[in-house]
Amino acid sequence: MTLATLLSRLDAKAHAAADWGAVAAYIPQLACVNPAQFAISVALADGSLVSAGQAKTRFSIQSVSKVFTLACVLSRIGESIWARVGREPSGDRFDSILLLEQEQGRPRNPFINAGALVTTDELLAGRAPREALSEVLEFLRVASGDDDIHIDSAVAASEQATGYRNIALANYLKSYDNLINEPDLVLGTYFHQCAIEMTTEQLALAGRGIAGLPGAPLLLSARKRRRLAALMMTCGHYDGSGDFAFRTGLPGKSGVGGGILVAVPGVASVAVWSPGLNAWGNSKVGTEAIETLAHKTGWSVFG
Ligand code: GLN
Repeated sequence: MTLATLLSRLDAKAHAAADWGAVAAYIPQLACVNPAQFAISVALADGSLVSAGQAKTRFSIQSVSKVFTLACVLSRIGESIWARVGREPSGDRFDSILLLEQEQGRPRNPFINAGALVTTDELLAGRAPREALSEVLEFLRVASGDDDIHIDSAVAASEQATGYRNIALANYLKSYDNLINEPDLVLGTYFHQCAIEMTTEQLALAGRGIAGLPGAPLLLSARKRRRLAALMMTCGHYDGSGDFAFRTGLPGKSGVGGGILVAVPGVASVAVWSPGLNAWGNSKVGTEAIETLAHKTGWSVFG
């Protein structure tokens, strides 16, 4: 079976789903998205891009942005970030405050909300919010080879108006001196990053560097991309990270907009989108599609 046929079958299977999961209702602008949507794109080592479903529909990348914020921090600032944030799975929800108190304000990893607030703060050090946001956008544009990537300001405003849990996390981090900037500034930048909208085609292309595909724009050293992928594998799906690794054998990073970016090192960069979420806040049908894709192709970092 060709990859194009396999992806078409995944699209058909998605549309036959009895349960698409529930959209992220805590962000008003995402609450009104129709869950019964699906797209998948695969960028391959030979430079080709194969897609099925609504691969040209833009969606809110949300926490998938956390990979690119960390990539920017590691590229420009470097390893000093690890003094402020850990590299262990949290085993808790993406927006949990629980461990922050036990661990004196040092978030477990950069892919939970508290950790991403710290990486965003680091990105902001010595620069204006607009510059920090441009850095992430520019990284995505260069990585994907597509300038047409923007922020959905309605989604950012929607989260800014209702993001009480993130506001609590930022204030809590500040109380432990683990934010350099004022919480409002960090939160505003963080919400805008999360509100970047992309298609699965653009996201799969943007992930080529992390997957180490030949021909991808060289934005990350081999060491950095391996480390990003290791964190995606261990922490990319919050308290569902073990389940995702078990089912797919691949590093992935999800977002509550229903997107997942998956790296198949040296082979492919995959982006899937379906807005309905499972109990962990990860795309339900998207995870199922990656599981089938990994099974049918034999793609796995475990050989
Ligand atoms: N912007 C969302 C939040 O901060 C991102 C969470 C996610 O995608 N898991 O709650």
